[in-house]
Amino acid sequence: MKVGFIGLGIMGRPMAKNVLKAGHEVFCFDFNEAAVEDVVASGATAVKSGKAAAEAADVVITMLPNGPNVLAALSGDNGIAAGLSEGKIFVDMSSIAPGVSRQAGQLVEATGAKMIDAPVSGGEPGAIAGTIAIMVGGEEDVFESVKDLLLTMGKSATYVGPLGAGNIAKLANQSIVAVNIAVLAEALVLAQKSGVDPASVVEAIRGGLAGSAVMEQKATKMLTQEFSPGFRINLHIKDLNNALTTAAEEDAFMPLTAVVRQHMSSLEAQGFAGEDHSSLLRIVQQLSNTVLGEDC
Ligand code: NAD
Repeated sequence: MKVGFIGLGIMGRPMAKNVLKAGHEVFCFDFNEAAVEDVVASGATAVKSGKAAAEAADVVITMLPNGPNVLAALSGDNGIAAGLSEGKIFVDMSSIAPGVSRQAGQLVEATGAKMIDAPVSGGEPGAIAGTIAIMVGGEEDVFESVKDLLLTMGKSATYVGPLGAGNIAKLANQSIVAVNIAVLAEALVLAQKSGVDPASVVEAIRGGLAGSAVMEQKATKMLTQEFSPGFRINLHIKDLNNALTTAAEEDAFMPLTAVVRQHMSSLEAQGFAGEDHSSLLRIVQQLSNTVLGEDC
């Protein structure tokens, strides 16, 4: 298959390489020339614009930061939409607001092409290993026609519903993860303030109902105050903003998500937006006047 790939950042670069490894032809574009050169060294062809990628390809994938970036990449004389036509498929794998996905869908459908939204979870390690989970919205037969291509990048590709539904699933994922991390921080600080070793508490409860992938991946970072990303606070703020905007549009009640979004604002104000989201612990530590591992 001929695949256009636009957005070769932390996630897009290894994903494009996995598409290449599976034997597809890749036409890639990013503003970052070093990223393009790296993917070209793995066998891709560099093109000068989104339009050129779409003209050369059957399927065009984007992996961009947020909705405005996706709309910008689609638009204009050199944008992706200018190179799309009937029979082509546009797959946006960025995590964006579902309403913006539907807006992008209108730009794509005006060209005769089809669009699915297919955001992912699993982070950079999953993107490198080809084990990300992909959640898909759009027409089901369009999804089926690119499913094998998606599975060159991930271990699962699950159809959720119409266009935007993939991003609804992603926002659900991001809300659950954010609140889970925040309450893990509260529980560890509770143990510490009570004079009980937080590491022993993790050990004692990980096999029970409170055990989770979040606990497995984030408890050690919290216990050692090691907050290198991982998944950055500023990207998680973007996702929670999209979740809360969508909640407002749909009259959905999400107070826990809103509170954790506020914790993240405080981290941003203190200059920690580039840290891993496990640094939510900092807020609970500050307000409890303790640091895990000290004064226990
Ligand atoms: P990133 O910032 O590392 O990469 C984005 C890339 O897009 C950059 O290389 C940038 O130059 C390029 N870009 C932006 N606008 C462009 C345009 N108009 N044309 C061409 N290139 C353009 O971001 P990332 O971490 O790879 O994340 C991408 C998406 O995946 C985001 O929506 C993010 O929320 C989501 N995501 C990230 C992770 C993670 O762990 N990093 C995990 C799951 C999902």
